Amino acid sequence: MSNEDESSLSSYPHAVRIKHIEWNANVSFDKCVIDATATYDIELSTATVKSVELDTRGLTIRSIQLDGVRVEQDDEEGWKLDADIDKMAHLGRRLVIKIPSSSSGGNNDNAKTNAKNNDTGNTTDDPKRTIQIEIVYSTSSEPSECTAAQWLTPAQTAGQVHPYLFTQCQAIHARSIIPCQDRPAVKFTYGAKVTVPSWATAVMSAPMADLTSSTPPSSNNDTKPSTTKTFEFHQSVPIPSYLLALAVGHLSSRDISPRCRIYAEPSILQAAHAEFSPATEKFLQIAESITDLPYVWTRADILCLPPSFPYGGMENPCLTFVTPTLLAGDGSLVNVIAHEIAHSWTGNLVTNRTWSHFWLNEGWTVWLQRKIMERWEALDRCDDGDETEVEAWAHAKEISHLDAMVQWDSLEGDVDKLPSNATRLNIPLGRGDPDDSYSRVPYEKGFNLLFALETLVGEKIFLGLMRAYLKHFQYGFVTSEEFRDFVMTYLEGIFVEGSKEDDNENLMKARIREFDWSTWLNGEGMPPKPSFNDALAKDAQSLCDAWMKFDSSATLIEPPLTNISNWSTLQKVYFLNKVQAAITPKTRLSTVKAMKDAYKFDQSTNCELLSEFCKIAIQCRDEEIFPVVVRFITTQGRMKYVRPLYRALFEWAPVGRHLAVQTFLSSKDFYHPIAAKMLATDLGADVDTDTDTKTHIKGASSFLREALFGAAVVGLPLLATFLIRRRK
Ligand SMILES: [Zn+2]
Repeated sequence: MSNEDESSLSSYPHAVRIKHIEWNANVSFDKCVIDATATYDIELSTATVKSVELDTRGLTIRSIQLDGVRVEQDDEEGWKLDADIDKMAHLGRRLVIKIPSSSSGGNNDNAKTNAKNNDTGNTTDDPKRTIQIEIVYSTSSEPSECTAAQWLTPAQTAGQVHPYLFTQCQAIHARSIIPCQDRPAVKFTYGAKVTVPSWATAVMSAPMADLTSSTPPSSNNDTKPSTTKTFEFHQSVPIPSYLLALAVGHLSSRDISPRCRIYAEPSILQAAHAEFSPATEKFLQIAESITDLPYVWTRADILCLPPSFPYGGMENPCLTFVTPTLLAGDGSLVNVIAHEIAHSWTGNLVTNRTWSHFWLNEGWTVWLQRKIMERWEALDRCDDGDETEVEAWAHAKEISHLDAMVQWDSLEGDVDKLPSNATRLNIPLGRGDPDDSYSRVPYEKGFNLLFALETLVGEKIFLGLMRAYLKHFQYGFVTSEEFRDFVMTYLEGIFVEGSKEDDNENLMKARIREFDWSTWLNGEGMPPKPSFNDALAKDAQSLCDAWMKFDSSATLIEPPLTNISNWSTLQKVYFLNKVQAAITPKTRLSTVKAMKDAYKFDQSTNCELLSEFCKIAIQCRDEEIFPVVVRFITTQGRMKYVRPLYRALFEWAPVGRHLAVQTFLSSKDFYHPIAAKMLATDLGADVDTDTDTKTHIKGASSFLREALFGAAVVGLPLLATFLIRRRK
């Protein structure tokens, strides 16, 4: 497997490395643009480096300086933007900045400082030097170009009064808000000054310094004076570009603990605080004790975003972004908070070297998330005093295993749908868009690899291995092969050091040697199924069986009415998953309606339950669910929920398909650009435009093509809202 990162057009990190960025940005909600100056400290590893190459996407470059000297736009001597790579819009355009031969000698102050600070101690021969580049630029106002940013209108926010901006840079969208080496294998520190309207608060993936300045009302418009204020941030722990993050909105905040604070729009702050505050600080402490490493990011704040946020959460350092779909009202979905906190070690501290090794970020994080949840649950049960310590831990483990079983089922669902090479842990991405292969595979197949190893060597040894892994790779990067080699070396060391050698140990050593890394990392399809503890799954499976028996029986008049009000969300989700799997074309609509009457899943405020039940109702062609589904998929934009439901509707031709297309047409602007692109793909659209008036539809399904032309007849403005624009 190549360790080259083909998702980036930037300089190779062994030669050129951004070490620090100072970002001075002005956020304009009127133009939906960020005007910024980025100043980079860049380390050149050899004296022969002739240019610095950065990723950009849709940026307008206004001026560039190198070590304080202006560089002109010039193909040969100055800077240039390479042309688009055909049909690779996601890669953007390479910004090439030539380093004049006069500065190659490194006889400037930066070079001297660098030589002095070099940790080799060799101050005369080392060719490393640092240059400083300043780029003045603006982002694109076009959503299809500035893919990291979502500019929400007031109507798309909870408050309905002010607009809102948030960014999502993972995987390769940072290049659309700042020129950078947009690859995980380059980590840098950053400082930022972000100027926003005075009504707004800016937050970033970095600790906030005090509010630095406020400008007085401007006099250019007497009737509507405008003011701005500037927020300042300092991130002193090196991060990869995908962890840059900014949000600007009418935010309020409330502390949870000395290092944790909730940010949200004022109208949902109370709900967000109530949902997350009992667990967050505890999760941090538990994670510190499991990893045996302190939390290095200083702040552990949470930003609860407007509902169009496409993911469950995003592990932006110091400030986790989360979807408001977690606000179930009973804390039942806080496992997502545990997941994002786990990323502070697995992903943010130890980072996948390229997106082909994404499973090392996510598989480890799922593993750590489950350990955090297990310990939290056990400690909670011990505190309650109803169970002995042994019982509490046994029960907590059962819950953890049920979670893994639920996710095993969703992994199977993804593996069925994905192209076979996207079911590998080492994903052969090439120059493809990493977003296109996003699935449960890196998460759950990754977890299962680690779980298989843990089962093999035992919990205690595996815990030691995990801690050693984090210490070895922290602040750095890792590939699958580096991980494999580390594991094998570590385990060999353990057994060499071990005092006694017995049959069990010999057997374990033999099994470790036989561990089939090749199939795990490069094999396609599902991994071998582990033996999960299914104690909590049995009741859910029995209830599913009873409903299916009721469905197929001509004599059973009463449906099974087992009281499940005291079941956990996980048990209910497991039950609904099993029902989905058991449904056949013969399943009666009346069965689904009876289930709806019995359990009111269609009215649930828990998005996991609502989404799973909607899938069942669509599967059984229950048109009464349409208003529920439409409301659900147009009031939140989390891809986990909207994509499967759009797909399920689309497969139900013609009524569901018509509804899916019409709903998408009218709601496309509500979704984040990443989600809108994925939904368009799911619905079979590959829409291209080369002018504002002339459109081409490539490879669209015939139904969608008809719908589009139908919409064009109704009015081009409606069509325009649907177009996913791509440069030719
Ligand atoms: Zn994650």
